[in-house]
Amino acid sequence: MSGVSVVILGSANVDVIIELDRIPGPGETVLTDASDRGRGGKGNNQAIAAARAGAPTVFLGAVGADESGDFLLEAQREAGIDVTHVRRIEDAPSGTAYVMVDSRAENAIVVVAGANGQLLSLTDAEREVLRGADALLMQLEVPMATVLEAAAQTKRAGGYVVLNAAPYAELPDELIANLDLLMVNEHEAALAAGRSGTPEELAATIGERVPDVLITLGAAGSLLQRRGSDPVRINAPKVDAVDTTGAGDTFAGAYVAATVAGLPEQGRLEYAAAAAALAVQRPGAVASIPRADEIQDAVR
Ligand code: ADP
Repeated sequence: MSGVSVVILGSANVDVIIELDRIPGPGETVLTDASDRGRGGKGNNQAIAAARAGAPTVFLGAVGADESGDFLLEAQREAGIDVTHVRRIEDAPSGTAYVMVDSRAENAIVVVAGANGQLLSLTDAEREVLRGADALLMQLEVPMATVLEAAAQTKRAGGYVVLNAAPYAELPDELIANLDLLMVNEHEAALAAGRSGTPEELAATIGERVPDVLITLGAAGSLLQRRGSDPVRINAPKVDAVDTTGAGDTFAGAYVAATVAGLPEQGRLEYAAAAAALAVQRPGAVASIPRADEIQDAVR
């Protein structure tokens, strides 16, 4: 198979977005009437981000054979994603995420895996797609065994393998051996490094295990540490954030799209930061992800 540039393997969820003044703590009840339905899931967000950022994109994942599944696939098709291989699961509902967003645009999220949890191994057709990828981008909202197998398929065929280790889980050596780039936020970076420290220190520690490390630092920007090179650090554009849901996903999808498009390191980081800065200025996950023309206008 040729002509596939980015393959995204991961979760797709319907987001139930609940707006609150303050996210409740344990034992607390908070009332609100601001609730909305949107599309999310790290895999889905990153696939839409890569496709809108300009990369020919294939999504590998699973949704229910329900109306929520139709709702999710509709937006993927609209973004130009190849959904041929997305599984429709008869006996599990589409994944659902309950997203609480407070008045400072901070969020707290609970995910019910549903159909995403059925991705327990790869089919022959999915393996073939993975072997044809220029780049594979994955997260950790689908079973680890599938992530492991997918990384091995793409790596063996010479593709570029990226893992966004979110939500964070211990990474087996067998997975790390097949990674080209590990992408994490600051919180995940501390978990991956097994200690606290400056972003540069965390990147150096993680870089002992993975060739390239990219740490996103929220409003403070991002840091790329490639093995044997000096770290590259960029600032995020200064914007008024209204909802940071999906900021990291938008960054990841746009970064990989920029990578397969052949942009140099600094250019990839700036493109991804511009995309994420646009996303945080709008509510929602998928709904907030910008198109290539918007990103290019912002980079200029
Ligand atoms: P995650 O969403 O995974 O927790 P971060 O919070 O690190 O990840 O955000 C990812 C990227 O999104 C950042 O590197 C930055 O480019 C962008 N971003 C996040 N928050 C803001 C913000 N308030 N202003 C501008 N850019 C932001």
